[in-house]
Amino acid sequence: MDKKPKSVFTVDVEDGISIAMRDAFSVNSPQTSRVVSLTNRILELLAEHQVKGTFFVLGQVAEKFPNLVKKIATEGHELGVHGYNHLQFHKMTPEQAFQELSSAKKLIEDISGLEVFGHRAPAFSISPDTQWGLDVIAEVGFTYDSSIMPINGIRYGWAGFRKGIHSIITPSGKELIEIPLSTVNILGKEIPVCGGGYLRLFPYWVTKMALEKIQEERPVALYLHPYELDTEKYPDYYFEQLKKATLLKRYKMKSMWINRKSVYPKLSKLLQRYEFDTAFNLVRCRSPIEK
Ligand SMILES: [Zn+2]
Repeated sequence: MDKKPKSVFTVDVEDGISIAMRDAFSVNSPQTSRVVSLTNRILELLAEHQVKGTFFVLGQVAEKFPNLVKKIATEGHELGVHGYNHLQFHKMTPEQAFQELSSAKKLIEDISGLEVFGHRAPAFSISPDTQWGLDVIAEVGFTYDSSIMPINGIRYGWAGFRKGIHSIITPSGKELIEIPLSTVNILGKEIPVCGGGYLRLFPYWVTKMALEKIQEERPVALYLHPYELDTEKYPDYYFEQLKKATLLKRYKMKSMWINRKSVYPKLSKLLQRYEFDTAFNLVRCRSPIEK
């Protein structure tokens, strides 16, 4: 099959149940083993297509499931950091962010025995208001960051941010390479396409068309979370909280389940048709003229 230039395959390794319990219901709940079984499904899929990807692992996941971190490394994938406690940058001070990132980086490096080069912020929370975070990311010692969604979003985004993989100078003058998440311009509006809820909700043909349009100019940066492949019922303690939630919140939480069954076959088709690699490999081989 005709293969186009390589794109970046990334996974934010976090447990959907634990994150939903804390962020939606304010209940602290440990990472569950579901993050392990679902990440294993992604690893199997990548092995089947002989693709290497980048796994940005949450510190809490690495702490509880160190064998998962070892397995990702043993299978030849790249490990990155996705914060320690999944705190968005606008909820932290620079000192806290430094602590979060450096402790997660050290933990993942200690477990895997490999150097970690890349970072992804929880919920793409690097925006014009939190650009100090880029200083912290560089100070902790990351070579690249992949946290910026170049959209004018409600919850996140940095409208007008340059789209290709490129070097940036952080506000305090440090060097860092940024891999923005992929968007496509539809009727003058930037729409994220290749990842998360967008990959889940859009029909495959929309993703395919957008991906091919982006690939004419730059590599696609695809992202997903293990929980997006989760089609098993959540535990009872989740539903006990859901029952008590407002109608709006219940609707929002239920909407996260729409089309989940479609994610695995869509990924399979994308991996079959297009060529993907780790983020660090793309950073190393990036073209200086990329837009
Ligand atoms: Zn996340």
